[in-house]
Amino acid sequence: MTDLKKLEAWFVTGSQSLYGEKTLRQVALDSQKIAQELSKSEQIPVKVVFKPVLTGPDAIYDLCMEANTAKNCVGLITWMHTFSPAKMWIAGLKALQKPFVHLHTQFNRDIPWSTIDMDFMNLNQSAHGCREFGYICTRMRKNRKVVVGHWQDKDVIEKLNVWARAACAWHDAQGAKIARFGDNMREVAVTEGDKVEAQMRLGYSVNGYGLGDVVAYVDRVTDKQIDKLLVEYDEQYKVEKDAKAGGPLYQSLRVAAKIEVGMRKFLEEGGFKAFTTNFENLYGLEQLPGLAVQRLMADGYGFGAEGDWKTAALVRAMKVMATGLPGGTSFMEDYTYHLEPKNNKVLGAHMLEVCPTVSKSKPSLEVHPLSIGGKADPARLVFNSASGQGLNASVIDMGNRLRLIVNDVDVVQPDAPLPKLPVARVMWVPMPDLKVGAACWILAGGAHHTGFSMAITNEYLEDFAEMAGMEYVLIDKDTCVSCFKDRLRWNEVYYQVAKGL
Ligand code: MN
Repeated sequence: MTDLKKLEAWFVTGSQSLYGEKTLRQVALDSQKIAQELSKSEQIPVKVVFKPVLTGPDAIYDLCMEANTAKNCVGLITWMHTFSPAKMWIAGLKALQKPFVHLHTQFNRDIPWSTIDMDFMNLNQSAHGCREFGYICTRMRKNRKVVVGHWQDKDVIEKLNVWARAACAWHDAQGAKIARFGDNMREVAVTEGDKVEAQMRLGYSVNGYGLGDVVAYVDRVTDKQIDKLLVEYDEQYKVEKDAKAGGPLYQSLRVAAKIEVGMRKFLEEGGFKAFTTNFENLYGLEQLPGLAVQRLMADGYGFGAEGDWKTAALVRAMKVMATGLPGGTSFMEDYTYHLEPKNNKVLGAHMLEVCPTVSKSKPSLEVHPLSIGGKADPARLVFNSASGQGLNASVIDMGNRLRLIVNDVDVVQPDAPLPKLPVARVMWVPMPDLKVGAACWILAGGAHHTGFSMAITNEYLEDFAEMAGMEYVLIDKDTCVSCFKDRLRWNEVYYQVAKGL
């Protein structure tokens, strides 16, 4: 997984030469101080790098061009300490390809009531300087986040943290490679989509590989490599008795380990960040890769089942955003409902592939038959999830655009043990409740596959959607079906018109 501290957000301050040397020196000092404090803050995952104060169009343009090609720069934090006439920003903003956030702050928190004079007023002008900057961004139809408040305020820093993490995920997606083992599940609609458009819009490329390409890697795995991995399994999971050495399922576990080593090697050598499988298409593999997929996801790979590359890329992006945060992130599927009055909820799972980062406790490693697919009994990690706030997210192809749908959920425990259910599972109540949440999700065309996370909030995905220029719709505690329907209809018009803007 990417070390986010190696990545940078550039702290860019706008001003103008009118104020004279002395004031500009102070502007630079103040700006340096903010950049340093943000960089030091444990709340901010990236380095915040101070850049010299910008006072003219050439310097602004040069900075934006430099940011475009700087490999570690995920985006800009912009701030107008003073007034910075915004025609100076047009060429730079036109050229800028990295995301930016507009920090609408002021160096001084309080008005110094007894000493305030016109010099103070002229130095601390963000209140109107940032409005001039905001106008040009809006006039140029620039997507950005606007964060308002004092720069030492915890909420302000948290909003910058969220933006920076979304920018890291966006940075990670540019040039990312996604491998599809086999094609789409036959006849399934929502997992299909325009891969060329997705690459143009979102930056990642998706390519298919024959199962034989992976099988060649799996076949080269040695007994020694398998033995080593089995020791790791023993340390990390409760391995069921029958799957231990000498037990009747031991051989199945060895096959699962062999698949993991081969698959991991294939992904590492190819520099892939996400991948898909398809249970209909496993030619040459003895088992559906369950355990392997679960463990690769835990290490930061994005994953989508049944050829679902859009969800694989989304899970990867969510995992980058969630780096180092408490709570897990996984591929997920709405599987079955509990429809008891006043206790409606969803049981989420998949055939096998739920990431153990969402587990409440040490997962158990078990081997069971798979009811569909006709392959040998696969190994898998079985567990319940933790409880708390979470969300489900889905990217769908609307034909003329990609839409990101997010539903806040309340993650709960099952009402009773599930002794016969041999897969990892998560239970949640969609916001505002199952009836409204699921109705809106279905009206929006949200997939049965999702990226599920208890580590990030909807704000991360909203910021990410802004960076991608992607449609974003949220279903949360305040959503009502008829308002939501209107929103979908307005968006339909907007995204037709927006193409001409
Ligand atoms: Mn599925």
